Amino acid sequence: MKALEHLHKESCNRGDIKEWVVHVAPDVLWYRVEDVGSYQGSLYGVGSYRRRILLYFDYYGSCGGCGAWGEGGGPDTQADLLKKSSTFSSVSGAVRAWDEETKHRGEVPEREPFIQAIKAAWRPR
Ligand SMILES: [Zn+2]
Repeated sequence: MKALEHLHKESCNRGDIKEWVVHVAPDVLWYRVEDVGSYQGSLYGVGSYRRRILLYFDYYGSCGGCGAWGEGGGPDTQADLLKKSSTFSSVSGAVRAWDEETKHRGEVPEREPFIQAIKAAWRPR
């Protein structure tokens, strides 16, 4: 599995959730980012960060006050995004955390592509 590429250098569209995640956290090598829902929903990301597997879970809302992306919601900086992320030193640990988190969320993406992304993000020392 290849890492996601980010093509924009400056004018990245904040309203495009997947693009913005990759844009705002360039030190993470992203393997999969998916938003699930419609006007509001959940956001899932898997990447590699400092040789650990990174899982990013977030929500997006439908208005400025409830966290719509581009209207005050979504991470502004890589530090913001990292605060909402957890890192793991093993595939099994990341898969356990994935299964635990998705249990509690209404909108969940297809599991298997994320398991593949977790495996791709693993960087053994
Ligand atoms: Zn971009």
